[in-house]
Amino acid sequence: MEYYWGHSRRYNDYSNYFKKHFGERVQKVTIDAGFTCPNRNGSVGWGGCSYCNNDAFNPSYCNPEKPVQQQIREGIEFHKKRYRRANKYLAYFQAYSNTYASLEELKRIYEQALQFPEVVGLVIGTRPDCISDEKLEYFASLSRKYYIILEYGIESFYNRTLERINRGHTIEDSISAIEKTAQLGIKTGAHIIFGLPGESKEDMLYEIDLLSRLSLTTVKFHQLQIIHNTPMAEEFKLHPERFNLFTLEEYVDFIIQVIEKLNPDFVIERLAGEVPPRFMVKTGWGMIRSFEVQDIIEKRLKEKDTWQGKNYTSQIIE
Ligand code: SF4
Repeated sequence: MEYYWGHSRRYNDYSNYFKKHFGERVQKVTIDAGFTCPNRNGSVGWGGCSYCNNDAFNPSYCNPEKPVQQQIREGIEFHKKRYRRANKYLAYFQAYSNTYASLEELKRIYEQALQFPEVVGLVIGTRPDCISDEKLEYFASLSRKYYIILEYGIESFYNRTLERINRGHTIEDSISAIEKTAQLGIKTGAHIIFGLPGESKEDMLYEIDLLSRLSLTTVKFHQLQIIHNTPMAEEFKLHPERFNLFTLEEYVDFIIQVIEKLNPDFVIERLAGEVPPRFMVKTGWGMIRSFEVQDIIEKRLKEKDTWQGKNYTSQIIE
């Protein structure tokens, strides 16, 4: 059976989307261009989001002290050995806020990446308060020639949560950034964390109705993980009762409901997060890898005979 997105997988997945878009496998090469974050240096806030330790997310070949071109060259070499089938690459700027610099600096960095003939586009992770009209116009001009996506960390639709985790922006900022980006024809992504303190399952599922109305291309979902050397880890040690971390079984049940409610036009890039166990305060799910979690979720979708958007409604019930 073929679903709405044109294949038999029960959700609109990233690898099939890429194959359809580029006609072949495309691999991401992660780059750390040495950007910083306004929520750490005092321009928006101090100390960063309470769960954030960027070291936990960066691959080992990423080193901001190396020039961008060298990181790309080494990243492509690394992936060529592992995934021989990939001939095209997207430069993935993941660490910190990758639009938090002047327009001249952004041009200098991104044009280095696009010089490589194998690099067909840019995936740029950023905060919704780190863009401007002139930066968006620049990305819009690039997106006429390359695959460009701006991925925004939304994390939650609830301002009370955003305040509690010290995000330093509101949900209104996120919605405005996403809509402005999409209006200029640039692809948009959103990142959401499930299990943030103070949010019930009902709150999180309602969030999916709201998320489904935005002009998004891709979405990434993560379960909350408590990482060493973060303010959240300190809070967790002192007040574990404030946290209600998903068990693997609970998460699988929950994410099935998320998938069922999600707009079927959205491409799901990630259903669960993975952090190397050495960074984690509480390793609740053991050594399981995110692709294994994904397999469990797919198996459950099949058992329940359900799929992305089965319960999607464009109407919001208040
Ligand atoms: S999660 Fe992103 S925005 Fe928050 S402190 Fe870390 S780098 Fe900054």
